[in-house]
Amino acid sequence: MPNQTKKSSQPAHPDTPGAVYLVGAGPGDAKLITLAGVEALRRADVVVCDALANAALLDHAPANVTVIDAGKRAGDHTLSQDEINSAMAEHALAGRTVVRLKGGDPFIFGRGSEEAIYLHERGVPVVAIPGVTAAIAAPACAGVPITFRNLAATVTFVTGHHSKQPDSPTVDYAALARLVDRGGTLCIYMGMTRLADITAALIDHGLSGDTAAAVVQWGTLPRQRSVRSTLDQLPDDVTRAGLGAPAIIVIGPVAEVEHAALHWFDHRPLFGQTVVVTRTRTQSSRLRAELEALGAEVIESPTIEITPPDDPTPMREAVRQIADFDWVLLTSENAVNALADTLEAMELDSRHLAGVSIAAVGLSTDAALRDRLSITADFVPSQFNAQVMGRELTEKCDMTGKRVLYLKADIARKTLVEALTEAGATVETIDAYHTRIAAALPEALWEAAESGRIDWITFTSSSTARNFVQLAGDRLERFAHARIASIGPSTTATAERLGLSVDTQAEISDIDGLVTAIGRATSNA
Ligand code: SAH
Repeated sequence: MPNQTKKSSQPAHPDTPGAVYLVGAGPGDAKLITLAGVEALRRADVVVCDALANAALLDHAPANVTVIDAGKRAGDHTLSQDEINSAMAEHALAGRTVVRLKGGDPFIFGRGSEEAIYLHERGVPVVAIPGVTAAIAAPACAGVPITFRNLAATVTFVTGHHSKQPDSPTVDYAALARLVDRGGTLCIYMGMTRLADITAALIDHGLSGDTAAAVVQWGTLPRQRSVRSTLDQLPDDVTRAGLGAPAIIVIGPVAEVEHAALHWFDHRPLFGQTVVVTRTRTQSSRLRAELEALGAEVIESPTIEITPPDDPTPMREAVRQIADFDWVLLTSENAVNALADTLEAMELDSRHLAGVSIAAVGLSTDAALRDRLSITADFVPSQFNAQVMGRELTEKCDMTGKRVLYLKADIARKTLVEALTEAGATVETIDAYHTRIAAALPEALWEAAESGRIDWITFTSSSTARNFVQLAGDRLERFAHARIASIGPSTTATAERLGLSVDTQAEISDIDGLVTAIGRATSNA
């Protein structure tokens, strides 16, 4: 997240100080923030963001929010604590609402209290909103319960990072070793670089090398990884598995609890799989949500951009005269969006469409209709493509003398129009939107390809396959290790003509079908 991703034009109100909300962002998964945290973000003028806070949380903030990235290197240094403090005070004293987004909980090894005291001393009102801390969430998602009846009666949160201040408290390893010896659990934050020292210190203070231990990295996120071991083997096992920060080290008998019931997170069918979604950004959300619900990490790599037509007049005219038509044909979610956007721009709503029959090409177009306009389509074909739509519509309804408005993309197929015209209808076609190839594949995709992390590439139409191949250009072979999932026969045919080999194809050509196919192919692998 670069500094100042979204530029602010907030007016300053120096007479009434704003406030700083110290918000716990949760351990990683963007859904693990509290409702109070989301509410604070919705009102934010400025967000000061930690490295470990999920950047997706910024979507809750207003579009013109000022983002200060306190975690990343700005120029040649990261923002110091003093710089963060004074930036927060300055914005708040100018009347702005500042959200200080901190990973996990603000007061667990997060310097929340130091920041609160600093701000309070300068007359800035401070509100703290707790968050789900990593030591609770990460083990929970790796099947390690941090308390367990008869196994652990205490849990101790420990920092593995020693303060260099001479008078600061030190970690009493003898006391910790005793606690674990009596069946307690240690959860160690920031301990990965000193892992071997920490385990050695506990063993030196009398803890058995056989004591159960675990490490959970990137807890709650699709990329979560964990290792179970014993105290004396843990450093080697962690190195072998390639785990690093951020991670929670769990030490104590609970680390060897093993039960299928506790693996709801990391035993999901697509856990550990990285899946590329190539649809447009506006269309990708449902596919993304379904893949993520099954545990996959999703990389959005839109290959198509949808833009409004250069001249909005024909579309507006058609909508104005919609009562002259008997049918409106919508062959994609984009057409639904174009129709809804045009109505909105003309200050009309779905009542304007009363009396016109509406045909939607498939279930997702129908769902978009309900979503955007609260309208249920009058006709949906049995198979989701324009040819079948033309044939079935003319079979089921008498189209003689009917006037049909076809809201299409600039690259729509002619077959639908031909079928309707043959059946006696008059079809008016309007360019409702333009589709064009994306400018480039995103950097995040190339990075993932470079590290061999991509398991699946999904194609939801022929044009996603065509555009992907074109955008990848002579670097296409970097995706050679990835498997390909196609939404249906015509997409598969296009991909194969382009020299790609399709590993799985949806049985029913929709998003659910595609996700099911990927799940099945993954579990069979
Ligand atoms: N305030 C935070 C902790 C900040 S200290 C909280 O309440 O969680 C940073 C340390 O938190 C990391 O070094 C790591 O030990 C732990 N941590 C943060 N996010 C984590 C995650 N997703 N998985 C595992 N450990 C995490």
